[in-house]
Amino acid sequence: MAEVGKRCVTGRSGRMRDAAARLAALFRKAVPAGLGLPLALTILLCGVIAAVQCSKPAARAPEHADRRCPDGRIIRIAISGIGSGGTAEFASGGRISAQAAGRSFDLGGKVAVEASGGLLRISEAGLEAGSIALSSSDGILRAGDRSYAGEMALRPGDGGAIIAVNRLPIERYLHGVVGFEMPPDWPLEALKCQAVAARTYAMSRMIRMASEQFDVYDDTRSQVYRGVAPAGHEAAVRAVRETAGLVLTHGGAILSAFFHSTCGGRTESAGEALGGEYPPPLAGVACGFCTDSKHFAWTALIARDEVDAALGIAGSCEIAATARSGTGRALSVVVKHKGGEKRITGAGFRAALGTARIRSTAFRVEAGPGGFAFTGSGFGHGAGMCQWGARGMALAGMNCGEILAKYYPGADVADCSSLD
Ligand SMILES: [Zn+2]
Repeated sequence: MAEVGKRCVTGRSGRMRDAAARLAALFRKAVPAGLGLPLALTILLCGVIAAVQCSKPAARAPEHADRRCPDGRIIRIAISGIGSGGTAEFASGGRISAQAAGRSFDLGGKVAVEASGGLLRISEAGLEAGSIALSSSDGILRAGDRSYAGEMALRPGDGGAIIAVNRLPIERYLHGVVGFEMPPDWPLEALKCQAVAARTYAMSRMIRMASEQFDVYDDTRSQVYRGVAPAGHEAAVRAVRETAGLVLTHGGAILSAFFHSTCGGRTESAGEALGGEYPPPLAGVACGFCTDSKHFAWTALIARDEVDAALGIAGSCEIAATARSGTGRALSVVVKHKGGEKRITGAGFRAALGTARIRSTAFRVEAGPGGFAFTGSGFGHGAGMCQWGARGMALAGMNCGEILAKYYPGADVADCSSLD
């Protein structure tokens, strides 16, 4: 191994060993005694394979780059709350500097940026440019009540707005994600699963969006990110650190690691839930661990007028699912009304009526005098990991490796570096 190590790219061998240790830690706790040795040998073998791989010369990126890590692992997040009105203000405990047009400007502890005529302007510095990158000597830029690590890249957007894109290492980004996608006081093993799923999703976006201006939004269009993790999110940050670099893969490619709040009994095939074709780990599984969720079973009463307004019809009188998935989720819905029938997908129906009220497409509906009574189960699209189920499994003593194996059966947990 020493000979192999000599030929490694600087730092790579150690990183691979670290990855093997993190992988081992995912399975450390709840391994039955009889399985401990074979599993330990498997993990050791993975570590050896990973270490041997690093002796290979650096490979060129393949044509279909979804089989390897995004270069540099810097993620770019479009920040929705900054610059929409045409101005953006930042402050720092250190000194803010701007990079623009090949020059560097020292701006002190505060800066105001304005969009004007398709350019950005910082009046105090006499700076006008088509794009500006801000950073701070202490590494943190404050905007409103949030703080952002890394760099903030600004450019003019449509309608006089400023588009702000936060750029920082993906692991640091995840510090500000995990505790917002899953309550940060949930068990650590569940938070670790969330960290792996969120990292996997982010990396898949970084690959897919490489030629675009940014990789992810900072809200539910991608996954929620609110900058530097606030107080109370220490366990979420620990979960990111303990799973650093680990992603879900299948056949050597990064998996679309979907997740949702509550499956209501059985997770859905990603193809049925979201459309498209997905590998076997996303085919759906029986859950049985999310009964603590308040969304496990739900009801909603929606007035006829509201249904009419949401669907652009008049006189709705009957709603029925005309096709259901194998788990009973509505794939298509027909709404009878005075003027005829409206046909819509189950997901489209849910979106039109409001995803917080029609919490999943696993619903039945009855018409009453003033409206419709829905009874349903679960919250979210149902594909991939059931978050409440992950919590239930963690509370039952299962570790992150076991939880991920449950919700993504047949998937591998791998260090992204090992995919090179
Ligand atoms: Zn579940």
